[in-house]
Amino acid sequence: MVGVPAPLAEENIRTAPKVLLHDHLDGGLRPATVIELAQATGYDKLPTMDPAELGKWFNEAAYSGSLERYLETFGHTVGVMQTADAVVRVAAECAEDLALDGVVYAEVRFAPELHTEQGLPLEEVVEAVLEGFRVGTELAAAQGHEIKICPLLTAMRHAARSLEIAELAVRYRDQGVLGFDIAGAEAGFPPTRHLDAFEYLRQQNAHFTIHAGEAFGLPSIWEALQWCGADRLGHGVRIVDDVSVGNDGEPKLGRLAAYVRDKRIPLEMCPTSNVHTGAADSLAEHPIGLLAKLRFRVTVNTDNRLMSGVSMTSEMAALASTFGYDWADLQWFTVNAMKSAFLGFDERLELINDVIKPGYAALMA
Ligand SMILES: [Zn+2]
Repeated sequence: MVGVPAPLAEENIRTAPKVLLHDHLDGGLRPATVIELAQATGYDKLPTMDPAELGKWFNEAAYSGSLERYLETFGHTVGVMQTADAVVRVAAECAEDLALDGVVYAEVRFAPELHTEQGLPLEEVVEAVLEGFRVGTELAAAQGHEIKICPLLTAMRHAARSLEIAELAVRYRDQGVLGFDIAGAEAGFPPTRHLDAFEYLRQQNAHFTIHAGEAFGLPSIWEALQWCGADRLGHGVRIVDDVSVGNDGEPKLGRLAAYVRDKRIPLEMCPTSNVHTGAADSLAEHPIGLLAKLRFRVTVNTDNRLMSGVSMTSEMAALASTFGYDWADLQWFTVNAMKSAFLGFDERLELINDVIKPGYAALMA
């Protein structure tokens, strides 16, 4: 029987299986939780104690175009995540929120070194996140939503603890930590500052992604791939600078862009977040449109759900209405992400064949 595809409305996109590879734990708290944790832990620096106003304040700071204001938001979320209990709660709610949004597989990253202000050891930060993900997965399953969620450990690129964090990631891989990342301001802090961490990870057969080519240009992407050996690029938006228009009016790839496309290097794109940080002027002008058309290995991600006021559903819906994507396109982004996950091959295949493809097939017919 041939049916009619479901309309591309948010409530239908929410039921579609989605895969998320780039999401920051300290960027996805519920506003009410920020307030309750502030009260519980004696944190007194929040701009307001009203959940609705606080949510709005985070959005406005993200939209303000001021990096200082944007970074201030993380001061608050990280500020209330300094105890094991607080970290467990935030991680549990993250798993639950993503599952209820229809995310079936997620890799969520956090920087253990940012949660040690009150003496919490790095190991306990990692264990609290793992415990929270376990609790949240169970809470979601009880509501009929299956999710597999795994942490990535982030090191801050301006700091000097990347080797220590890389070793921590490897030590916890049998407990479910799937990989490593470096994040923070790109300009002035090239990824090659952390070569010892990346060399160690490669020798340990471990996976890593690097925030590169967000605000900063092609050299950052080139270093991340050819010096550091990154498996994926966090954002990678500026790879579009290596795509020009030839005399025949057709797009022409430079050597680095061709390498990225030929090698199927996954781009963890976060369109709305890029508009907020100024890496793109608008969604319509975001390079994801061209890069997807040229069949780069493009994936769609949220980055910071609280600050940007987004979910995987809202991001997919915004892209569909901006670029005219249909269910087949949304499935393509999702399969791209699942293929690019740091999860083992057999588990990736199982999710693609048993969850993602049947889910989209039901929506398309
Ligand atoms: Zn990010």
